[in-house]
Amino acid sequence: MFYELKEDIRNKLTLADITEVLKSLGSGPPKERNDCLIYQTVCHHYKEDDMSYKLYYYIDDELFKCYTGQQKSYDIYGLVQDTLQYRGINVSLEQSIEYVVNNSNIELGFGIDTSAKSVDDFN
Ligand SMILES: [Zn+2]
Repeated sequence: MFYELKEDIRNKLTLADITEVLKSLGSGPPKERNDCLIYQTVCHHYKEDDMSYKLYYYIDDELFKCYTGQQKSYDIYGLVQDTLQYRGINVSLEQSIEYVVNNSNIELGFGIDTSAKSVDDFN
């Protein structure tokens, strides 16, 4: 059930939803390419000034790749977990799913609170 939910939510996410989640984590608007969107490296930096556009979201694969440091690949949930962990906030996979739901516009309709939350709520 839990993993079906995880996949179900990921399948419902539009590119606009992905962008909402990335903005909530501190990225500016993405640079758009044919096969990918390029965001700022929220997973490796705190301040806007330090963030370069090196976090690629490959649309067909639904995977992020960060070209800073270890060049890790993540799905949206892994990215949320790593980004919050970088800021000293450990979240479970379940919490990262909740974060994605709360910071996008997807409608679930089974009781998960979809009111807007930002990363500040974890502090
Ligand atoms: Zn990164």
